[in-house]
Amino acid sequence: MQMRTESMRILVVGGVAAGASAATKARRANEDAEIVIFERGPYVSFANCGLPYYVSGEIQRMEDLLLMTPERFAERFRIDVRLYHEVTGIDREAHTIEVRDLRSGRTSLERYDRLILAPGARPILPPLPGITLPGVFTLTTVPDAERLREVIASRQVRRAVVVGAGFIGLEVAEAFLKQGIETHLVEKLPQLMPQMDAEMAAPLAAHLVDRGAHLHLGAEVAAFRGGVELEGVELASGELLPAEVAVVSIGVRPELGLAVDAGLEIGAAGGVVVDERMRTSDPDIYACGDVVEVVSLVTGRRVRLPLAGPANKEGRVAGANAAGGDMTFPGVVGTSIVRVCDLTAAKTGLSEREARLAGFDPLVSYTNPMDHAGYYPGGRRLAIKLVADRQTGRVLGAQIVGAQGVDKRIDVLATAIYGGMSVEDLEGLDLAYAPPYSSAKDPVIMAGFVAANEWRGEVDVVTPLELAERLDGGEPLRVLDVRTPEEYEDGHIPGAESAPLERLRDSLHRIEKSLPITVYCLVGYRSYHACKILAHHGYQVRNLSGGFMTWSQAFPDRVVRGREPVGIGR
Ligand code: FAD
Repeated sequence: MQMRTESMRILVVGGVAAGASAATKARRANEDAEIVIFERGPYVSFANCGLPYYVSGEIQRMEDLLLMTPERFAERFRIDVRLYHEVTGIDREAHTIEVRDLRSGRTSLERYDRLILAPGARPILPPLPGITLPGVFTLTTVPDAERLREVIASRQVRRAVVVGAGFIGLEVAEAFLKQGIETHLVEKLPQLMPQMDAEMAAPLAAHLVDRGAHLHLGAEVAAFRGGVELEGVELASGELLPAEVAVVSIGVRPELGLAVDAGLEIGAAGGVVVDERMRTSDPDIYACGDVVEVVSLVTGRRVRLPLAGPANKEGRVAGANAAGGDMTFPGVVGTSIVRVCDLTAAKTGLSEREARLAGFDPLVSYTNPMDHAGYYPGGRRLAIKLVADRQTGRVLGAQIVGAQGVDKRIDVLATAIYGGMSVEDLEGLDLAYAPPYSSAKDPVIMAGFVAANEWRGEVDVVTPLELAERLDGGEPLRVLDVRTPEEYEDGHIPGAESAPLERLRDSLHRIEKSLPITVYCLVGYRSYHACKILAHHGYQVRNLSGGFMTWSQAFPDRVVRGREPVGIGR
């Protein structure tokens, strides 16, 4: 696409992920246009996603976070970048914006043919006592990260509090732990990573505790305490967490001011409404990045997804179209990933909770495969949760936690969701395999086998959460542990009877048919065979999805060690 539109003037508000992508794409689409980026901060096109790793010291030089400079924008793209310039108003009729030079204080009007709004989002700051104390931070910009690093060094910070356990909070907590700082993580909800299902976030909590973090889940901050500087964070319970530094990361709000004042349409999800060409309710104004809401490819509803991938792609589309091109942005699946010390957690599409809220009847399946062939050294287990539409088998979402190999599996699943694939399609994927990388049955394919077996009705399945509910509700049912007696004694579900798979056929005369049975093994594979044997002999039987591994991840306190008096196959 190469348009020749005479001296079109394209103005861009915000010069980071979405704004910089929009401007450069606009240039590629239109060599003649005059393109100006207004950025109120001191840097253009910086890597905000890299900030936690600058705080940790893994990225040592601040300059490495600066992907472009105004000079390079000018030389390479003939784009005029004006730093410290804040856009304060839009006159849609006159096609002008009001711009304030933050250094001189001067205000000017700038004419546009096309305007692209990419002002991002700002961190939510709760109006709590002491929130403005030096030592209380948010982490959004390069100067934020620089100040945080300076304070860590100059105050010789030994204790820190992170408020909010979303992905930025976790990355900051990791950065503190890496530096030997006593780290307290406070989260209002009873789990980390609110966008994940609780049992999938649980291993992260256990891992952080193992790494020395202090978790305060289901806890709220009441105040930041200190005189001249921060001295501690007070929880609503009254507990005081002494700290020299606190980072508040409880979410972001889109920078809607300009759009609202200009009367642009704001949607139910709280973002600027755009069409698939990233055009707002004003045909000459485009918007992209954290400020917009876009269509979820899973639910068809409009959502806000403040992530860098969508911001860059939306910016590209907005830039191309503003410059006279014709591109569309299809929507988002919602894929994210976070490293927490030695674990990685990732999610694509919907969690089980989100699927229910969206009105689906979700089919849920857990698998715990090795990330590569078990016989090749160094393999580690992945915990995978797949969520599909019980009616159609379409994959709706996936969550994966593990030490390695998480990233490529979540991306395969994200691609599957993007393509509208079903659990049966996952069974047929043709993925790369050699022992150091994967298994002949890749974890994604294995997850597909298990979910598709369930979907086709080849096996009845119960999830750990459902089993716990049934047991708690006093439902009459028998739980059989088909692992070896040694594994059983090492830890089993309360009330479960030991019935090793190898002896199951010979023990059938001791299992009456009146009670429904749930069987489990470590990950669900041996118990799948047990299910088949029992079902063949006329038993009403379900397999525990994810086996003992997922059970103990979901309910670490509901594990019994040692023998129990009962045991069918002993
Ligand atoms: P921004 O990148 O926020 O840029 C908006 C710019 O507009 C800002 O520089 C702002 O100063 C400027 N601006 C606002 N209003 C005006 C105005 N009126 N006039 C002039 N300029 C204005 N996402 C991921 O996908 N993966 C990650 O690992 C990840 N890590 C992150 C870590 C941190 C610490 C942070 C803060 C974010 C992270 N994100 C991550 C989110 C990602 O960075 C954002 O989704 C993305 O930057 C949004 O791009 P944007 O262009 O819409 O907004």
